[in-house]
Amino acid sequence: MSETTLPSIARTRAELAPARDRLDDGDVAVVMTMGALHEGHAELIRTARTRARHVLVTIFLNPLQFGPGEDLSKYPRTFDDDLAICTREGVDLVFAPTPDVMYPEGEPGVRISAGPLGDVLEGQSRPGHFDGMLTVVAKLMHLTRGDLFYFGQKDAQQLLLVRRMSRDVDFGATVVAVPTVRERDGLAMSSRNTYLSENDRQTALVLSRALWAGAEHAEEGPSAVRRAAREVLVTEPLALVDYLVLVHPDTLEEVPEWYKGEALLAVAAKVGTTRLIDNTPVLLGPGGGALPVFSDERVG
Ligand code: AMP
Repeated sequence: MSETTLPSIARTRAELAPARDRLDDGDVAVVMTMGALHEGHAELIRTARTRARHVLVTIFLNPLQFGPGEDLSKYPRTFDDDLAICTREGVDLVFAPTPDVMYPEGEPGVRISAGPLGDVLEGQSRPGHFDGMLTVVAKLMHLTRGDLFYFGQKDAQQLLLVRRMSRDVDFGATVVAVPTVRERDGLAMSSRNTYLSENDRQTALVLSRALWAGAEHAEEGPSAVRRAAREVLVTEPLALVDYLVLVHPDTLEEVPEWYKGEALLAVAAKVGTTRLIDNTPVLLGPGGGALPVFSDERVG
């Protein structure tokens, strides 16, 4: 039997600092999560392992990125199971603070602003969400002193904004994207999938099916992609679509018909009481189709 070592657990800044110091014999990769870990998170950890000597996972349900009508109070809290996954994946250090550790003086007055890119798509339905997200990501970047930061393609707008924060305000952080991990039937893994009833779960499949249908038409151009994806979405009236867009990966503006190159096909819909998002990067034009993540040449 292989030996498993429990990760160190730090719950306060005072515990984190010396535990982080002990990882100074190589690169430290950081995976930030809100807990309720699943295979998507595990894949981030495994990918991080391939490039860094140490992996540090943060587990923090950040109240700042939840709006008043959102699901903060019912968000799944599964710390023991999360720890089991971290142990299985060989995580070195888990930082699991409470809100009063992260925000000792209450809600912070000064925050990171996502700017206009934070007002569209997810930001339109979730005002303030991205400012709250970036503020905690900035704090966790400083506190963990990571060398590399791993984020999922699943949350494409979050990934874009973290990269933009790193460049625009000179965090100089290396941000690595990990392709979306899916259930066998295509549903993108998410901590929120636990809210879905069996019927909701079937309905939810229409999101990934729409994305694949759209991506299949990537050689023909934007309107063919949008049409094919929409034709699938309308077959499932129980999925209340918030948006279906084919946008430029930098500006999040709809791409014009002549556009060729990488674009983001993204969808958000309410299924039952649960808001779900999914996306796929696509290459538009000759040889086009779905991509796992955007190319390194594009994102730098
Ligand atoms: P969360 O705990 O939902 O905030 O997610 C923490 C990190 O895991 C974020 O970088 C997410 O994009 C990433 N993530 C969540 N679900 C998936 C998934 N299905 N595949 C890949 N990454 C994911």
